[in-house]
Amino acid sequence: MQVKAIAALVTVAAAALGAQAQEQVLNLYSARHYSTDEALYSNFTKATGIRINRVDSDDAGILARLKSEGAASPADVILLVDAARLHKGEVDGLFRPVKSKLLEDAIPAQYRGTPTADGSAWYGFSTRARVVVYDKLKVKREDVDTYEELGDPKNKGKVCIRSGSHPYNLSLFGAVAEHLGSDAKAQDWLKGVKDNLARDPKGGDTDQIKAVAAGECQVAVSNTYYIARMLRSGNPEDRAVMEKVGIVFPNQQSWGTHLNIAGGAVARNSKNPQAAVRFLEYLASPEAQNYFANGNNEWPTAKGVKVSNPALAAMTNNGDFKAETIPLSTVGANQVKIQQMLDRVGFK
Ligand code: FE
Repeated sequence: MQVKAIAALVTVAAAALGAQAQEQVLNLYSARHYSTDEALYSNFTKATGIRINRVDSDDAGILARLKSEGAASPADVILLVDAARLHKGEVDGLFRPVKSKLLEDAIPAQYRGTPTADGSAWYGFSTRARVVVYDKLKVKREDVDTYEELGDPKNKGKVCIRSGSHPYNLSLFGAVAEHLGSDAKAQDWLKGVKDNLARDPKGGDTDQIKAVAAGECQVAVSNTYYIARMLRSGNPEDRAVMEKVGIVFPNQQSWGTHLNIAGGAVARNSKNPQAAVRFLEYLASPEAQNYFANGNNEWPTAKGVKVSNPALAAMTNNGDFKAETIPLSTVGANQVKIQQMLDRVGFK
């Protein structure tokens, strides 16, 4: 080969390397697996030129992976689907606090990680309510329209719920404990709920709703997006299930219905922290909020963003319900204490 040709090849190779170095890639560890999220990522790439490389796992798997990878972790952005898990990532030091005027303006303070001088370790981008589903023929609505009544002896033998230790329940119970105002009251309530169980906890939220329709229990607890999925289902069996049950947003006369969040954080050891923050900021934009929240039948957290979702509208009188307003960072901080109470009262 002639010297000239070699020189030309080297130039081409160098140009290719340059192009590669310029293509920015964000490694996203995500516990969300919805097809609408794909559109979300490709729109971000269109707007910024930054490509998203997604690694899927569940919340617990992602936290474990971040821990074991340590400083060598390629993760830039983390998406998790529960406040208790986000808080766990925060206290385990897996996230890099983010200070962003845009995020602080867009996302209400109660949906952020613990405030520090460096900002918050995570931001919530959608909310879901944890509500009560009941057998319309056998249960009076007014007997199940507060969380407290789930632990009242009048509901003995009626309640179905997934494992008490599941993050959705740790967050719900952590919120109720906060509202009840004392650990003794919280533990008594948890014992009451446990004593009211129709069966040992098993399955997910949808399984509890089906168990009510099947007559195995009369009262269940579920996140709203599972209910919306059943209401919008193309399967006639799902809709038949929903015909039999009533839905109640608890505590409308007192502290409001418990909300949980899906949220995001920047990985502690991200090599691209600026691009990672940009991605979180993008998630707070009205366009992204529509995909992120509506795509999974959730409500957007960003101020001033409204989406119209027929299933959510139908179950809430057009979205009009009273939600609790305590900070989810406080709720997350209660999870260790709650788990100890569950162990003490034998709530699996
Ligand atoms: Fe879920």
